Amino acid sequence: MNEKNLLQQIPSVDRLLQSNELNATLDSFGHQRTTACIRDVLTEARATLKVTQDSVPTIESLCREVTSRLSSEASDSLLAVHNLTGTVLHTNLGRASLPQSAIDAVSRVASGNSNLEFDLAEGKRGDRDSHVEALLAELTGAEAVTIVNNNAAAVLLCLNTLAMGKEVCISRGELVEIGGSFRIPEVMERSGCRLREVGATNRTHPEDFEKALSDDTALLLKVHTSNYEIRGFTREVSYEEMAALGKSAGVPLLADLGSGTLVDLVQYGLEHEPTVQEVISAGADVVTFSGDKLLGGPQAGIIAGNREVISAIKKNPLKRALRVDKMTMAALVEVLKLYRHPEQLSTSLPTLRHLARSAAEVKQIAEALLPVLQKQLGDGAEVEIIESSSQIGSGALPLNQIDSFALSIQPTPASDSRLQQLVSSLRSLPEPVIGRLADGRLLLDPRTVDDTTRLQDQFRQLNPL
Ligand SMILES: *Cc1c(COP(=O)(O)O)cnc(C)c1O
Repeated sequence: MNEKNLLQQIPSVDRLLQSNELNATLDSFGHQRTTACIRDVLTEARATLKVTQDSVPTIESLCREVTSRLSSEASDSLLAVHNLTGTVLHTNLGRASLPQSAIDAVSRVASGNSNLEFDLAEGKRGDRDSHVEALLAELTGAEAVTIVNNNAAAVLLCLNTLAMGKEVCISRGELVEIGGSFRIPEVMERSGCRLREVGATNRTHPEDFEKALSDDTALLLKVHTSNYEIRGFTREVSYEEMAALGKSAGVPLLADLGSGTLVDLVQYGLEHEPTVQEVISAGADVVTFSGDKLLGGPQAGIIAGNREVISAIKKNPLKRALRVDKMTMAALVEVLKLYRHPEQLSTSLPTLRHLARSAAEVKQIAEALLPVLQKQLGDGAEVEIIESSSQIGSGALPLNQIDSFALSIQPTPASDSRLQQLVSSLRSLPEPVIGRLADGRLLLDPRTVDDTTRLQDQFRQLNPL
């Protein structure tokens, strides 16, 4: 047969579309996407045929190729994963896990309408912040609050509202960079304020602030140095001292707490982080902190402070651009309600439950996982339980190591490529499992595991190494 005849025997796009073989594919991917893929497959078949002068592919084989291409590109992108990194609040893995009451509340408001901005008592327009204002006031001692998308947005909005076109004084030791390019000096610039660095990197005194204050000063800023610590010969100006300086100069004090917490972490065996209540009672006019760090809630930025300052912030048109949606608000309300029973937080709130978990309890989870993992990996790897340490993550108490245990996996014979193969097959599971590498081993720290059976089911789908 000559080339022309051969090519003419390749079926048309319509023939494939009408074939029963593609019924299910059309249902899943729709007419447009399926047609485009058929065109690609047919174009390639024609090109191949020109070169090989081989037999014409069957309709069935062309349909199979279309289906397989569409299915392989269709895998979902955003998946639930098992965080076995040992970092409880892992920013790349979505930070805090929500309690069930918050998940239920999200589902209630997501599936229909709600009174998000509707005052049911008066029957008129309401304010979305009203749903958390009383609760946060009760828990933190703040007079008023407003909620935005994340803490970075909270800092931006506060600076822009309180100091646009003016100077903001901050200690040189607190010019923080948070992961993901959030740098205080740059945020300050984008907020339209001028940075006035005060003191030295390791030591800043109240007199340094006194000297820096001028008619142009609009705000004092204190940033919690979440992800590093300056040790040795140091002097920091306390919240009380900063507040007193602000009062005498007639400028407000903004405290960016970063993680922020409403409870004393010492009761969970961690170091003390200044609580929101402490910083407000020390005299800060406005405090910002994250919803999804130590608070254990949804991604949000919480701005709490005195009535006058919060009211100015709420009038800033940027607030409208940075406000949170109904699902965030619903989750936040439920998480905050748990704080009314602080004695139950170590069971009721996943973040604190995971942080408070004893090393012995983590070891028990590891013991339940070990046999499944060892059986699945066969002779290709040695699995054992070793002492290790977890951390909070998200910049909270970066130097605070929490005693923990981890499954330690080493391929036998040890080899870097086989280790990488193991890491990548754990990442390719339907519910990917993420651990961390240390000393040529893969460590899986089960501190945040709540459903051992579900994780065991994932391990059972691993191929032997
Ligand atoms: C984490 C952090 C931020 C940013 O908070 P996001 O909620 O991630 O936007 C800002 N300031 C400090 C000090 C932080 O630790």
